[in-house]
Amino acid sequence: MIYDKDADLEKLRGKTVAIIGYGSQGHAHALNLRDSGVDVVVGLRPESSSRAEAEREGLRVLPVADAAREGDVVMILIPDERQAEVWEREIREGIAPGNLLLFAHGFSIHYGQIEPSSDVDVGMVAPKGPGHLVRRQFQEGKGVPGLAAVHQDATGQARELVLAYAKGIGCTRAGVIETTFREETETDLFGEQAVLCGGLTELVRAGFETLVKAGYDPRLAYFECLHELKLIVDLMYEGGITGMRHSISNTAEYGDLTRGKRVIGEPSRRAMKEILAEIQSGEFAREWIAENRAGGENFQRLREEGKRHQIEQVGRELRAMMPWIANRG
Ligand code: NDP
Ligand code: MG
Ligand code: MG
Repeated sequence: MIYDKDADLEKLRGKTVAIIGYGSQGHAHALNLRDSGVDVVVGLRPESSSRAEAEREGLRVLPVADAAREGDVVMILIPDERQAEVWEREIREGIAPGNLLLFAHGFSIHYGQIEPSSDVDVGMVAPKGPGHLVRRQFQEGKGVPGLAAVHQDATGQARELVLAYAKGIGCTRAGVIETTFREETETDLFGEQAVLCGGLTELVRAGFETLVKAGYDPRLAYFECLHELKLIVDLMYEGGITGMRHSISNTAEYGDLTRGKRVIGEPSRRAMKEILAEIQSGEFAREWIAENRAGGENFQRLREEGKRHQIEQVGRELRAMMPWIANRG
């Protein structure tokens, strides 16, 4: 584990860091680095709606190509599926020999969508949390843990610079694990597909649907299967599964121990293995790239279908009565 004492912010002194994109991760990296005393420039397309917001924070905003040219360190924080085209059109040319090209996720490099020339350093700093938490935790003196990797070390300085960057955004406060682009990409995709996003949303909806179809009040089903999740996840976050089980009733714990494996049994574990294999073989990446080339129609349709599910409607109404919950629905 790499902590604050193992990384030296001085390595970034005299260098300009260009942050391409000002979305979830972009705004957090730009603002945290600036607060760490680093010289930052933000690269955005002229029509970007984030431009005013970045300028209000006192950040210097340039067109993407100009920012990429000015940066000694260039961090690409636009959506993974847009990176290759923007790289070809606006970034590649501005990356001089000896510059450090950075990513927050290994997709573009690992699956060969971006192929930087051999005379530049290529690294990764991937915070293990959403951008808004990366910013908020930093402001509270805390940090989100992260992963760091070096794909290509042309200067012999790549590792130290990557770690300095991780320190600048606050990750080394919580701990940084050194890894490879392959390991980060494959575990990240697996985690979001099988557990954090795909697995979880289907688990919640399946539970909700089971109760509603059996005639129970949908509001009750919502509280039981979605709302209460936060409480359970907070307990697991603080004390692991054992800590969570310590807090729930004995009845809940006995039900957990004897029923959980029936819900997530052999078929689910088999599906997880298949999903991992599709990630490792590049099949998922090819599908996602093809989906975007085709205009993303299927993606949009699935998104809209998800929004129309009954649990979304019920949840919106219930959350409106709990104004202390930031309602992003
Ligand atoms: P966002 O979707 O939040 O990024 C949006 C930003 O990208 C906006 O500033 C947008 O500008 C800009 N952008 C989009 N398309 C273009 C384009 N064609 N040209 C120029 N700018 C463009 O991205 P995330 O922060 O979610 O993800 C960035 C990277 O971080 C990804 O590699 C992702 O995997 C990784 N990551 C993300 C995490 C997260 O919490 N979301 C967690 C860990 C890693 P405009 O205002 O003009 O639309
Ligand atoms: Mg991801
Ligand atoms: Mg209960």
